[in-house]
Amino acid sequence: MTDFDGLTAVVTGGASGIGAAVAKTLTERGAKVAVLDVNPGDDGIRCDVSDDTEVRAAIAAVVERFGGVDVLVNNAGIGAQGDVAGNDDAEWHRVLDVNVVGMARVTRAALPHLKNSGCAAVVNTCSIAAWQGLPNRVLYSASKGAVLALTLAMATDHLDDGIRINCVCPGTADTPWVGRLLDAAPDPEKERAALAARQPMGKLVTADEVAHAIAYLASPLSGSTTGTALAVDGGMYGLRPRPR
Ligand code: NAD
Repeated sequence: MTDFDGLTAVVTGGASGIGAAVAKTLTERGAKVAVLDVNPGDDGIRCDVSDDTEVRAAIAAVVERFGGVDVLVNNAGIGAQGDVAGNDDAEWHRVLDVNVVGMARVTRAALPHLKNSGCAAVVNTCSIAAWQGLPNRVLYSASKGAVLALTLAMATDHLDDGIRINCVCPGTADTPWVGRLLDAAPDPEKERAALAARQPMGKLVTADEVAHAIAYLASPLSGSTTGTALAVDGGMYGLRPRPR
């Protein structure tokens, strides 16, 4: 027996990076896992979380195949760079529609099934950007601040439905997303070192480390935890970086 035996998990953005690590971890721990992704690869279900029709169809397909939804990991997200003048209205709407409304939309579609689960958990991938002003990331940070508030508000509304709702706040994690940012930098190795140095432990977080934190919050092992945010950030939230 493992802690997810008999449970069905939906992971959005599950085809890459943190989401792929979550899908692997939950599968290894006994869950039946459905990956929902706009680029699903061979094993996933095509679903753009900014499209309500696709979201409802994807959740219906999961329920038809597996019989329900017990765990929902709202992980799909996109980045945005710039100060407050750096993004026009269309860009604000596009990013918030994926990062914030996307999480609400998928949760809304899965809600009736989560209510039937008996041990339901939702885990949202938030970010250290919800807590700490990161340079040149106004829109992204606003979206993750909203994810934190969304998590707390949903957690209180669904206490009596038996659905625990939490989020994780990764620091900079070594995923294809960050790889793309590094590739675009004038000196990728220097930029990687600078990102690592920004975190007090002096290293990037791994996708697996975030996945294990998400798995903990999704599992019955965290049965008394709801409405909280777990940092996986190399000490970035609580500690002052020291010169290295
Ligand atoms: P990634 O780019 O490696 O993976 C993101 C996945 O989401 C991709 O498979 C992509 O196809 C999918 N996706 C993007 N838009 C989508 C949409 N509209 N509908 C469905 N799927 C969509 O990124 P990652 O680094 O693994 O990031 C995953 C999550 O972690 C994001 O929410 C991100 O904000 C958050 N996060 C990442 C870091 C980091 O440093 N990597 C730090 C903090 C938070």
